[in-house]
Amino acid sequence: MSQYQFQTEVNQLLHLIIHSLYSNKEIFLREIISNSSDALDKLKYLTVADEAYKGIAFDPRIDVSFDSEKKTLTIADTGIGMNEQELKDNLGTIARSGTSNFLSALADDKRRDSNLIGQFGVGFYSGFMVADRIEVVSRKAGEENAWKWTSDGKGSYEIEPATRDTNGTTVTLFLNGEGAEYANRWSIQDIIKRYSDHIAFPIWLRYDEEEWDETEKKSKKKGEKTEQVNAASALWKRPKTELTEKDYAEFYKTIAHDSEDPLLYLHTRAEGTLEYTTLFYIPKKAPFDLYQVDYRPGVKLYVKRVFITDDDKELMPSYLRFLRGVIDSEDLPLNVSREILQQNKILTNIRSASVKKVLSELESIAKGNAEKYAAFIGEYNRPLKEGLYSDFSNKETLVELVRFKSTGVESWTSLAEYSGRMKEDQKAVYYITGGDEKNLRASPLLEAYKKNGIEVLIADDEIDEIVIPTIGKYKDKEIKSINRSGAEKDFGGAKDEAAAKDMAPAAEKLKKALGDRVKDVRISSRLTDSPCCLVMDEDDPSLQMQQMLKAMGQKDMPEVKPILEINPDHDLVRRVRETEDEGTIADIGEVLLGQGLLVEGMQLRNPADFVQRLNRLLGK
Ligand code: ADP
Repeated sequence: MSQYQFQTEVNQLLHLIIHSLYSNKEIFLREIISNSSDALDKLKYLTVADEAYKGIAFDPRIDVSFDSEKKTLTIADTGIGMNEQELKDNLGTIARSGTSNFLSALADDKRRDSNLIGQFGVGFYSGFMVADRIEVVSRKAGEENAWKWTSDGKGSYEIEPATRDTNGTTVTLFLNGEGAEYANRWSIQDIIKRYSDHIAFPIWLRYDEEEWDETEKKSKKKGEKTEQVNAASALWKRPKTELTEKDYAEFYKTIAHDSEDPLLYLHTRAEGTLEYTTLFYIPKKAPFDLYQVDYRPGVKLYVKRVFITDDDKELMPSYLRFLRGVIDSEDLPLNVSREILQQNKILTNIRSASVKKVLSELESIAKGNAEKYAAFIGEYNRPLKEGLYSDFSNKETLVELVRFKSTGVESWTSLAEYSGRMKEDQKAVYYITGGDEKNLRASPLLEAYKKNGIEVLIADDEIDEIVIPTIGKYKDKEIKSINRSGAEKDFGGAKDEAAAKDMAPAAEKLKKALGDRVKDVRISSRLTDSPCCLVMDEDDPSLQMQQMLKAMGQKDMPEVKPILEINPDHDLVRRVRETEDEGTIADIGEVLLGQGLLVEGMQLRNPADFVQRLNRLLGK
């Protein structure tokens, strides 16, 4: 017998499960049964697709039994099984990357949101909510030896050789005080019906039948009985008319390991040149790994009800990676190899039809159910925006689906709504980028637009700067960043020639003082209250973009300088015109440039110097 320590993440997860899911303990059975179902799926696939497994008899079943005196509950399957190494890998570590960060964040969150942890998928370890010891005996299909894994869920586990007649896995829970209630026929039946009715394999429950003994005046054991508890039909194959909202929701929870109902589901059967069924779900909360490169895809591929893979990132485009559900094709060969899936034409067609279907469902929600759409946007606006630059075939639809913040509204706005509010002579759709929403809403760049009653989109998402330019035009109107020079063209008139001429010497002096710190100093036509603002030249990347690229490791990028625009009506600027004192001009120049950077959410190169100059000016 050898003892091993759990990986830190497992300990963290166990701790969280026990402290945050206690109000929903019964889901442990759903999790363990769904592992059995996955194990059966995997073996089924191998027996049809892999020569080496063809000799293995596939007799799929999940057997549940209990002992109400010993307080044990056992779940056994005839699935793929695990060998010694797999037991260690699967039940001692969590291989999913990002787990550690996610769990630490969750542990810090005092609300201990059980929904959040539900999103993560608690899996096997949830058994420790109801058991103070769990024993797993498993034998991998095609191997002779069986192994026993045992743990009390307190930091370590043990592995030793064991015996098992056939391949598969048997999980025995030694129930704790609170879990004892589950060693009972009625509650097991109830939980299985509720959570696992649509597991595609039969779940059998063994129990003792009792009868009333008249002479002894008590119920006595009559004999053992085994009964199938679940419907065992692939839910997605059943007609929509037979299914209730609840059926859909429960099925969702088993495949997505979520504890909440989904935000929406979409069940489609295609007949014609291609025959397939899809059942898609969108989770209420974005999956925790949504922004990780190695996110876990959530759509499973079946062929004629045989599970093929749940690990194919090409099944759906990556911007729809939050989708959960099933694609079941009638046309693909059963032994389709996972490797060639990507080039498969049938699958490509199913995929593009599915994407269209999902997007058109979103369109109709956007039109008909504002509240639901807002909930959707709150979680998934950003992935949709990714679609704008990755899915050209659906760009027109996506442009209408994405939402923006704006100076014109407090909530989200679509481009269509924005353009409905546009003044007749407005030349373009305007947006501002750089920094967070609060910063942007207070930006001096907005002053003249506000004054002229022009609405500006607040593009505070870091990918906006990449995404929005790819939209090109919206209904013949250019989409223009107001962080660029040339704002005077936006308001119809040229800037006040007289003021410009009047202040030209001030601009010259500042330019001389700032040297190559700026690309140019210009008289602004867009400022009313602020003394200055920073803009970028027409085709230059923004400061934030430069910062982002640098952070991503692009070191040899030439630094592109901003243009300092100054307000000809501001006192500080007038002072520059009036004085010839180089020290004062330098102070004002640095203070203007510094505040321009601060407003953009950038860091100052030399904050101490900035403060010194500022104080000097204030003192005068
Ligand atoms: P998840 O199911 O989300 O991957 P779990 O913690 O529930 O997470 O399970 C971890 C892994 O252990 C599974 O991915 C699977 O590889 C393995 N496993 C669990 N139960 C079984 C089982 N009954 N048969 C075979 N493998 C299993």
